[in-house]
Amino acid sequence: MDLKFLGAGSCFNTTLGNTSACLPVGNSAFLLDCGESVFHQIQVGDLLNGFKNINIFVSHSHSDHCGSLSSLLFYCFYVLKVHPKVYAPKAVFQILDLQGTLDEIYEKNVLEACKKKVFQTDMLSPSGLVNISVFPIKESHAEKLESFGFLFADSLGDCFYYSGDSKGFNTNILSLFRLNQVKKIYHDCSWLDYPDNIHLSYKKLCQIITDPEERKRVVLMHFDKGFNFEQAKHDGWSFPTA
Ligand SMILES: [Zn+2]
Repeated sequence: MDLKFLGAGSCFNTTLGNTSACLPVGNSAFLLDCGESVFHQIQVGDLLNGFKNINIFVSHSHSDHCGSLSSLLFYCFYVLKVHPKVYAPKAVFQILDLQGTLDEIYEKNVLEACKKKVFQTDMLSPSGLVNISVFPIKESHAEKLESFGFLFADSLGDCFYYSGDSKGFNTNILSLFRLNQVKKIYHDCSWLDYPDNIHLSYKKLCQIITDPEERKRVVLMHFDKGFNFEQAKHDGWSFPTA
């Protein structure tokens, strides 16, 4: 299972688009995050056409992660003729309500900070059943804001984790990664390193994962404008693909 990225930029790095990715499995699509630039890319590239099930997971309510969600939901319902499912923190649904997103055009699934939740989806695909576990992020990204990471596992033993935005590395995920139960981690990372950074800095990430073999299994994302790709390539990290 590999995520196809629609964008890999941070909030201010609009050149790379907002960080968002899609996992197509059979006739189902799983979209991770839907920031301001994402609906435009989906529509122009016709990226969700042909999918019977559209599942949208939103990591948190910052606008670079949910800014074009309302437009996408209307588009799914009226143009693609699909009733999409949204899995997101409560704040995202409050935003959708304020934007006049009609209740009947999508299914709401509220993620709660106190609960680790598992969704199981049978999609009759080559990789069979997919479990999606939702991890509340304790390494809080921004104060008073619920944030979630997502772990995808299929019945063939493949498994990856998508961090959303987070200040630190989830220790449970890191343990599973070192046991090779989590095969790949997609992690946000900023070149800037300062005390109150709400993202995991490149410097800290390099201190957490030093083994070159482990670095190959970590895909960096959510790049800020000053991100030094040459240095990161030289240091052995992986990068998102479209
Ligand atoms: Zn954020």
